[in-house]
Amino acid sequence: MQEKKTIALIAHDNKKTEMTKWACQNKEYLKKYHLCGTGHTAGLVAEATGLAVEAYLSGPWGGDQQIGAKIAEGAIHVVVFFWDPLQMQPHDPDVKALLRIATLYDIPIATNAATANCIVRTQAE
Ligand code: PGA
Repeated sequence: MQEKKTIALIAHDNKKTEMTKWACQNKEYLKKYHLCGTGHTAGLVAEATGLAVEAYLSGPWGGDQQIGAKIAEGAIHVVVFFWDPLQMQPHDPDVKALLRIATLYDIPIATNAATANCIVRTQAE
């Protein structure tokens, strides 16, 4: 049997409600992955869906960088990153670095629900 792919979930504060709603709507698809995410996002998704979500540090405290490092190691295969297009983040350099590393390593990365739907429904196997 093939090992499950790992998906990383990250949502900025104004996007957390959207992330939990999206995760609940996609719970049946998300079950097929190993889930991880930045601290608060991971906790909220785990609570909302009842699925296990491995938590890294909170984004502003290095969580984005931890996820970036895991992508570089080949341990994360898909990213759903609901970043906030209307508000500056204190960790903006980390946000950019994560987008960069996901692009560099050719990882499917969804930054909104419409794209995330397409990706999680096709990438599980
Ligand atoms: P958080 O981090 O899930 O710990 O809030 C997300 C972020 O702001 O990058």
